[in-house]
This record gives sequence, structure tokens and C-alpha cells, in this order.
Amino acid sequence: MQIGPPPISTPFNIVWLRRNLRLIDNMPLYHAACEDLPILILFVYDTDILTRLDDSSDLRVNFIHLTLHKLNKEASAHHGGVLTLHGTAIKVLEQIITNWPVRKIFHALDFEPYALARDAQVMKCARMNNVAMNSSLDHIIMHPERITTLDGKPYKVYTPYSKQWIKELKSVCLSDSQLPKSLNLINPKRSLLTLRQIGFSFKEWSFPDAFISQSIIGLYKDKRDFPSEEGTSHLGMHLRFGTISIRYLVKQALESNDNTFLKQLIWREFFIQVMFHFPNSMTQAFNPKYRNLPWRFDEEQFNRWKNGETGIPLVDAGMRQLNQTGYMHNRVRMIVASWLCKNLLFDWRLGERYFASKLLDFELASNVGSWQWVAGTGVDAAPYFRIFNPFTQAKKFDPNNLYIKKYIPNYSENTYPQPMVDYKVSRTVCLDFFRNNVSIT
Ligand SMILES: Cc1cc2nc3c(=O)[nH]c(=O)nc-3n(C[C@H](O)[C@H](O)[C@H](O)COP(=O)(O)OP(=O)(O)OC[C@H]3O[C@@H](n4cnc5c(N)ncnc54)[C@H](O)[C@@H]3O)c2cc1C
Repeated sequence: MQIGPPPISTPFNIVWLRRNLRLIDNMPLYHAACEDLPILILFVYDTDILTRLDDSSDLRVNFIHLTLHKLNKEASAHHGGVLTLHGTAIKVLEQIITNWPVRKIFHALDFEPYALARDAQVMKCARMNNVAMNSSLDHIIMHPERITTLDGKPYKVYTPYSKQWIKELKSVCLSDSQLPKSLNLINPKRSLLTLRQIGFSFKEWSFPDAFISQSIIGLYKDKRDFPSEEGTSHLGMHLRFGTISIRYLVKQALESNDNTFLKQLIWREFFIQVMFHFPNSMTQAFNPKYRNLPWRFDEEQFNRWKNGETGIPLVDAGMRQLNQTGYMHNRVRMIVASWLCKNLLFDWRLGERYFASKLLDFELASNVGSWQWVAGTGVDAAPYFRIFNPFTQAKKFDPNNLYIKKYIPNYSENTYPQPMVDYKVSRTVCLDFFRNNVSIT
């Protein structure tokens, strides 16, 4: 793509937004605002990412598009706006660096393997052209190298990691990175790209608000496991795209007497540091012992799992919730994942990819980490012999079938189809499978 002429001909700095789509409490923007030069806010619709999406009305792209409109409006209060470009991020940035009078590019660190490779390439080009790259930590509280064991190694077990994380928090500044009242933003004088211009289409959707209350945090411990309750924050998508600040969220969590919610936020950082230190675990079992498991596959069974037609009410309700809403309750995620990996003995990577295509809050580190946790192949994983029983789980966490009936409206215990495989038999087969590490027929 051709990027065209620069919005102004005199030197300026860029804030390159990627997954920190907000102006408030935004570290790169704050650092840029401390400098003298005017700021151009840039977002690149990266074709390296977009071409991997199957659905032309992908909700995540719709959400980004909507958010950029909001930001553009907010920026207009400072006489600025957001410049959106479309193309391979590396190529777009290379063109900007070589053709526009840019002095510095401010951005937030992103630890996904693709993002690390992209940023390394952009940095190389910037260095060669005397453009400075200013990277800051914005998406998480603790840099993955900050929390280590006494001998400097990354943690592989959550509990000691979380204890160390909480200790370290005392020396972290959580205060807002306040922006000056007169922010010197550049007006790009170009309209935002439309969804159609980037090859996508609009889908009407009501996204959850980026909102947290003390009552959600306070009741979280008691309500979080019951999928029919509104007991969790639904902030995953906002954390993913940075439409809420993690520092703000941690401050809110610290105001509560109970730290269950905070601990979930720490799980997110735990999985990000696992991804950073062990990037190969994004595509293969973390535990080498399980790298050559002879997983089964059957397309018809896989489709039944994907469509919520397994004959297991809680699994089916969960998959239908995912397909209809782009969200699934955490407990139900564990149960549907366990059914796929342990009762059907399908490779966790198949389930992980399916979730990746559907979840609004899809995060590579958390998704892979959680799938490997359930499959028993990952860090601090549930042992292979812990197999969720979806029937007892339903009795305990959805005793009145409220969640099941929400997603299977005509549900009745007597007429519901039989399970696609018998729970008890498949459990025994699973135990043998892991114990012997041999194929089954
Ligand atoms: C198989 C499986 C796949 C998952 N895939 C993802 C994923 O792609 N993206 C994702 O963000 N979470 C994933 N999770 C973790 C968890 O299910 C979701 O974070 C949570 O359900 C999102 O709902 P919420 O925003 O209401 O979370 P809340 O319960 O309100 O928690 C607040 C935030 O803490 C973080 N969090 C909570 N639980 C976990 C956890 N176990 N691991 C990591 N972070 C956590 C999330 O950012 C979440 O938004 C997965 C879990 C399982 C079992």
C-alpha cells in the first residue's frame, strides 16, 4: 500500500496503537505527551493478522473499528484524530520511517511471538533511519522478566509466581499516567478506514462495557463459578484490546477485602510470562512427556463438539454460548475442553484453534495456557487423571439447569439425546491412554 504524504511536513512523533486502544492512562501516549513535538496517533489494520481470520464480519475487527471511532472523537477534542492505515504492519511502518519526518515512535510492549518478531523488524528499520523507538509496559503490570525464582529462572507453577507478584506489586506505581490538558495532537486530515475498505463487513453487536464495580469484585469469589449468574467481569475483551487499563483494574481489585479477582488477573500475567519464556509451548505440549501422544480424530465427532451436539447438556450449552455470543463462562470452558481432550482424546490444539476463532476475549497466552492446563500437558497443569465429570459439574454449578436452558431452550432431561460417548467408559480409556501413552483404536 502507498501511505501518501505525511499529515504535516515538520518533525513529529508517532504513538502507534496496537492493543492499547484508549487515550486515558495510556503509557506510550503519556510518554509522547512529555516531549515537545506534535503527536500523530496511528493504527494499522495489519493484513498479517487480518488474513488469518475466516469470518469477514469478525466481531473482534468490528470492535476495533468501533473503538477507533470513539478514540477519533476523543482525539478531536484535542484538535487531533487517529490515522488508520491498512497493510502489513512492518511494511507500513517501514514506509513511514523512510518517508515521513518522524523523530520517535512510541508503542506498548506486546509479548506474543508474532508481535515480538514484527517489532524487532520495525526497530531495525527505525535504527537504520535514526528514528527512535520508545517502548513501554502497558498491557500488564509485571514485565515477564521481573518475577523470577531466586535463581533467576521463570516460574512454572502459578502459586509461588502469584505470591512473588503480590510482593513485587508494592514497588509498582499504579497511578494514572495523566495527560496534559493541552495535548498536542495532529489532525491526520483523512477519514478513518471503513470496514469495507479493509475487506470486512459490519455486524450489529452489543459489546460489554469496560466497567467494573466493587460489588462485582466483592461477590466474585462466591458467584464466579455459577454460569447462570452475572458473577464475572466480562472484561477479557477489554483487557485484550486495552480498552481498559490493567493498572486501573488492579487498583480496583486492591480496594476489595478479597483477592480472588486479583488472583485471576495474575493468572493472565502468569500465562503471558510462560509464553514469553517458552514460546514453543504456544504450539506444542509444554511438558515434553506429552509431545507425542497419539491423539484421536473424527471429523463428525469434532463437528458435534463444535456445534454443541454432544448429548452432554452442559457441554452443549457452553459451545452454543460460545457460538452465539463469542463468550463462554470460565467453568464451562474447562468442562468443554476436558470433554474434548480427555473423553474424546482429541489434540488440545484443535480446541484451542476453535476457541481462537470464536472468543471475543481470545488471548494466545491464556488460551493455550488454559487448554494445556485442562489437557494436563502444560505448566502447573491439572494432572491427567483429573477428568471433569460434566454431569456432577452441572448438578453443582447449574443445579436448576438455568444456564443449560438459556442456551438449549427446549431442554428436558428425559428427551435430550444420549451422550455421544459414555462418560465412565471414556474416562477409563483416557486414564489408560495417558498412563501408557499408546494409541487406541
Ligand atoms: C479452555 C480455556 C480457554 C481460555 N481461553 C482464554 C482466552 O483466550 N482469553 C482469556 O482472556 N481467557 C481465557 N481463559 C480464561 C478465562 O476463562 C477467561 O479469562 C474468563 O472466563 C473471561 O471472563 P471474564 O472476563 O468475565 O473474567 P473474570 O472472571 O471476570 O476475570 C477477570 C479477568 O482475569 C483474567 N482471567 C480470569 N481467569 C483467567 C484464567 N484462568 N487465565 C488467564 N486469565 C484469566 C481475564 O483477563 C479476565 O477477563 C480460558 C480458560 C479456559 C479453561
